[in-house]
Amino acid sequence: MLKVVKFGGSSMADAGQYRKIRDIILDDPARQVVVVSAAGKRFSDDHKITDLLYLCHAHSQYGVDCNRVFDMIKSRYQEIRADLGITVEIDDELDALKRRLDKKAISQDELASRGEYFSAKLMAAYLGFKFVDSADWVFFKMDGTVDKEKSYAALKELAAGESVVIPGFYGKMPDGNIKTFTRGGSDITGALAAAALDADIYENWTDVSGILMADPRIVENPETIPEVTYDELRELSYSGAQVLHEGTIFPVREKSIPLNIRNTNAPADAGTMIKEGFDTPVNPDRFITGITGKKNFSIISISKRGLSNEVGTLRKILTVLERHNISVDYVPNGIDNVSVVLETDALTPNLYDVLQEIQAEVNPDTVDVHDQIAVVAAVGRHMAGRPGISGKLFAALGEAGINIRMINQGPDELNIIFGVSNDDFAQAIRVLYNSFAK
Ligand code: ADP
Ligand code: ASP
Ligand code: MG
Repeated sequence: MLKVVKFGGSSMADAGQYRKIRDIILDDPARQVVVVSAAGKRFSDDHKITDLLYLCHAHSQYGVDCNRVFDMIKSRYQEIRADLGITVEIDDELDALKRRLDKKAISQDELASRGEYFSAKLMAAYLGFKFVDSADWVFFKMDGTVDKEKSYAALKELAAGESVVIPGFYGKMPDGNIKTFTRGGSDITGALAAAALDADIYENWTDVSGILMADPRIVENPETIPEVTYDELRELSYSGAQVLHEGTIFPVREKSIPLNIRNTNAPADAGTMIKEGFDTPVNPDRFITGITGKKNFSIISISKRGLSNEVGTLRKILTVLERHNISVDYVPNGIDNVSVVLETDALTPNLYDVLQEIQAEVNPDTVDVHDQIAVVAAVGRHMAGRPGISGKLFAALGEAGINIRMINQGPDELNIIFGVSNDDFAQAIRVLYNSFAK
């Protein structure tokens, strides 16, 4: 039995958290492969080490010294070490890092990766496990994707028969440079390690007792979802539930490794289990698994009489957006109109060009742009094949006086997406949660 366990930033924030982690590891001898994040926040207005590292890099690029910020980083790690009473040499490495930073001789990615690196050094010393550097086994290809075959083979060798601690978040490019994943990417490192070693389970330990049915910053005390399928999780994390990095699922799913989200601060809680499928639903009457969403989308609505009989219009619209490298999130359509929903930040810099090109290529009757749109997604595998669900959701939102600006359902009926105004975002999530999730 082998369990790969990943601990996120808040689980690594101070020595007290390291002690909790040790108890969790000691509690189960199968927990032999430990992946760690950089130290996160200890309290709400504290700083994440990763943020401080990015800040330092920005300072040095503008020729501003970052002594004060770097000292904060250094002392966080030195304090943890002192508090745990361990001896591990990190001071020289920290000083060498600072010298490279002062000379602008370090890339942003490499500097950002050092948060995880020092976390793992300390944790390895504390647990008495072997430190395995991710630069020695997470190998990227030139296109920035992970070379799984090569990476898995390397980790198998490095971790064979040993208990190890691995820093999350980064790996190595073919030219030898360090590259990080996008933010939150230590989740991916854990998933890769689990896949490489054919683990029986990938445990992702964080500061909540699993995936909650809604964002706890919006709904007070939302319930934990006990069981989620990989597909539902994809939908939930794509649409906004920021509990796991969206790239986490692919490596474990390929190997059918279940993923269990657990709470470092409440280790007795079962958390959320994520698998391909489940035999019997925990609560058969409940058709929504989770509710999530994001703000700040724009809708471009294009109408043209006879549009549904024309060939190629949608392709022309999408080609305009592709030309500007803008990705489209949803494409709801009517008979003589089609809308594209996309992130406002991606659209704004090219807005006028995009509108002009659509005008020229499609020759529509009207083109309107609406901003300040939030997208709310109700996700659930039990929605499929059950009639009347979108009507129920609609009615609940209508009763609460929330105007729906667009509605979209994926062909697999795993989600129903609503567009509402940014101002109605939190209220829409609360209404759906209170009406259908409890
Ligand atoms: P870690 O540092 O352990 O990787 P993250 O901060 O990345 O943790 O993710 C956990 C956080 O995700 C929680 O503290 C919570 O605030 C937030 N979150 C947002 N939506 C959800 C949700 N639906 N379920 C659980 N947590 C959520
Ligand atoms: N430390 C990185 C971040 O803050 C990666 C992670 O925590 O997963 O984004
Ligand atoms: Mg995270």
